Amino acid sequence: MFNALVVTKDDEGKTHAAVQSLTLDDLPAGNVTVAVEFSTVNYKDGLCIGPGGGLVRNYPHVPGIDFAGTVEASDDDRYKPGDKVVLTGWRVGEAHWGGYGQKARVNADWLVPLPEGITTRQAMAVGTAGFTAMLAVMALEAHGIKDGPVLVTGAAGGVGSVATAILSNLGHEVAAVTGRPETADYLKDLGATQIVAREDINETTKRPLEAEAWGGCVDAVGGDMLARVLGQMKYGASVSAVGLAGGAALPATVIPFLLRGVNLLGIDSVMQPYENRVAAWKRIASDLPMEKLEAMVQPATLSDLPQLGRDILKGNVKGRVVVDLN
Ligand code: NDP
Repeated sequence: MFNALVVTKDDEGKTHAAVQSLTLDDLPAGNVTVAVEFSTVNYKDGLCIGPGGGLVRNYPHVPGIDFAGTVEASDDDRYKPGDKVVLTGWRVGEAHWGGYGQKARVNADWLVPLPEGITTRQAMAVGTAGFTAMLAVMALEAHGIKDGPVLVTGAAGGVGSVATAILSNLGHEVAAVTGRPETADYLKDLGATQIVAREDINETTKRPLEAEAWGGCVDAVGGDMLARVLGQMKYGASVSAVGLAGGAALPATVIPFLLRGVNLLGIDSVMQPYENRVAAWKRIASDLPMEKLEAMVQPATLSDLPQLGRDILKGNVKGRVVVDLN
């Protein structure tokens, strides 16, 4: 028997999340069984713990879009019992049962060996949010980060916090956009050199170009903010578009692309090929200062998840929640 957060749907279509006892026979098909040690809470998890946001097709469902743990049984040559592994993406926790259980059964193709030098707990302090932040920074590097501060939007959230810490550790000035002024000290401790108030950058402007301010941008917000930021980028600078915490619309003009050679880079963490995943986790192990990572951690257990799911949908989670399943 093991514990898991199970989401059920009643006859009226309402979902209910509660900790239940399950057996290995309850787990879905897959060729590797993992003893999950840690998971985390992402925006998508908030949706899947609650009414689903169209992501979950079948109930009962075990959410948790990422986890790290130890292989318990494997029918795949690449993994053997005792191996430490990490999983993000591949619609695990949405279409397939995820990491909010002490055991998970998955396809070996979805796993990545835990990189050397980090623990399963640290891997989930990073989680999908941090992994995506690393992909976003790597995309900026591939296109060249220009001089001047790199802007991080949604900075006090999961993606933003990790992006801030990585960019600062790599020697970049970081301007952190937040709607929560009380997180300023936290963001400065992560390495932000400048705090930008959300309202200063959130409003639409009729001017397609403003003064050139940013040498790069990791954007977790989208919407009006992304549209505005495009017109503030330095000549030839790039924006990694990661999230839509502020909206999916992009009310922008093409002028920043045409007159300033600005690049808008799409970042997807879910379907990233294996080699890119391994490269990003390696960079995380080398470029993310682990003491800064620890400062972002908010510990939690399975029973905290229903409330945390509601909190993250309201933008009320700071940094990275680490769910302990041991
Ligand atoms: P969080 O909820 O932890 O962080 C989002 C942050 O955005 C908040 O903390 C807040 O930061 C800011 N924010 C929230 N609402 C608004 C708003 N209305 N306007 C402006 N800013 C707002 O989520 P994550 O960091 O985990 O994820 C961020 C985004 O990235 C989400 O949209 C998520 O779905 C997406 N994502 C995409 C991935 C991909 O593969 N492309 C992978 C992972 C996440 P502050 O309080 O500092 O203002």
